Amino acid sequence: MTNNWETVIGLEIHAQLSTESKIFCSCSTKFGDQPNANTCPVCLGLPGALPVLNWRAVELGARAALSLGLRINERSIFSRKNYFYPDLPKGYQISQFDQPFSADGTLEIMTAERDLAGHARNWTPKTVRITRLHLEEDAGKNVHEGLPDVDRYSYIDLNRAGTPLAEIVTEPDFRTSWEAYDYVNHVRRALLWVGASEADMEKGNLRCEANVSVRRTGEGFGTKVELKNLNSVRFMQRAIEFEVERQIKALEAGERVMQETRLWDERAAETRVMRSKEEAHDYRYFPEPDLPPLLVTREFIEEVRSAMPELPEARRQRFMEQYDLSFSDASQLTSDRALSDYYEAAAAAAGNPRGAANWIRSELLREIENAGISAAECPVAPDELGALVRSIDDGTISGKQGKEVLSEMFATGKSAAAIIAERGLVQLSDSGEIDGVIDEVMAASPAQLEQYRAGKEALFGYFVGQIMKASKGKANPKVVNERLKEKLKG
Ligand SMILES: [Zn+2]
Repeated sequence: MTNNWETVIGLEIHAQLSTESKIFCSCSTKFGDQPNANTCPVCLGLPGALPVLNWRAVELGARAALSLGLRINERSIFSRKNYFYPDLPKGYQISQFDQPFSADGTLEIMTAERDLAGHARNWTPKTVRITRLHLEEDAGKNVHEGLPDVDRYSYIDLNRAGTPLAEIVTEPDFRTSWEAYDYVNHVRRALLWVGASEADMEKGNLRCEANVSVRRTGEGFGTKVELKNLNSVRFMQRAIEFEVERQIKALEAGERVMQETRLWDERAAETRVMRSKEEAHDYRYFPEPDLPPLLVTREFIEEVRSAMPELPEARRQRFMEQYDLSFSDASQLTSDRALSDYYEAAAAAAGNPRGAANWIRSELLREIENAGISAAECPVAPDELGALVRSIDDGTISGKQGKEVLSEMFATGKSAAAIIAERGLVQLSDSGEIDGVIDEVMAASPAQLEQYRAGKEALFGYFVGQIMKASKGKANPKVVNERLKEKLKG
């Protein structure tokens, strides 16, 4: 059905910058305080109150822009965006319009289609045009639930009013929901990585809106629908899929797609009309008379840049070159800054970067996921993971024993060496001792020995099993194999 249809998606991200105070006053941005506790004449919009720019918001905005490889304008202008809404007491939002903090950028992301099981296939680079990144203040919040008489009253909490945001807008460059998904994840990771934003969609400090339309291949843009209430990247991806199918169905039935805002309802797995957008808003932007132009020097931008950590893409590339990791390994290990730091420390301690990568990806991340914690909270220190990998590499314990040791390290926080000693796990690798065990087993199995020597080679496994049993699982399988072959020759 979708064969001759093309999907067109543009994205807007609002990221809350991680300042301690608001963008134009000194009120706290702390979440969860008593409603309206963190307010003052400026963020309440009282007459005569004057905004003063919080320079920390500019610094974090610069970090956000640089983390995405965007250029910063040395001069930008704050403007008033006029509209009426109860959570906006001034009657306008201070934002940026024709001279934003950053404009006309490009960002390269890695993206892949997914199979039915959700596994990525063939990661390829894609360039996304970033229309703008600008700074603005957030509005307050209307509360319609959980308070007395909500059938008759609306409540307004202005704690959030004046919280600094970076708004990042793309051109309509995405053609599939997975491209949009990979882009939002890229931006989230970048902002979190450089400390510009907590970038958590579930907590609402990263909000995303998708403009979605469809067109027949080769035709002009179709009517776009704005999707909101996307509380996770996965929800956004599902909402786009639903919306694309809904629009194609409507057009194929000869109906029109209306220009409107729709909300994603995760429980019903559908989008619903929130409001029609037939009349375009006229925000009557004009320069904010109470704030001077925002001027940043080259020196300031370079200072911000030099204080930032190595960016995730650069680190991924370095991991591939320096540690000989695959794209997929390096991507996973740089999905989170704490994890990538952890990996580098563990690789150094192990003296085996690929071994450390394998143990982290196959075993440690599973423990971390099962425990529902982040890599930063991992109870196994990177040095200790390195020590574990070393004791496997030098044959002290087997890989299978290593998995058990790691589980116990994770559960108890004990060192690898302590657990290996306590459990008496030291692997038997001495060929003289192993020879002794092989001799005993052969002496105890004369019938099998005769059959083996008569050509029934499948019995090799029987002998290995008996030797492992006699050594209580401690014999080094590699040495057992070598010595047993030798001995069975007679
Ligand atoms: Zn305030």
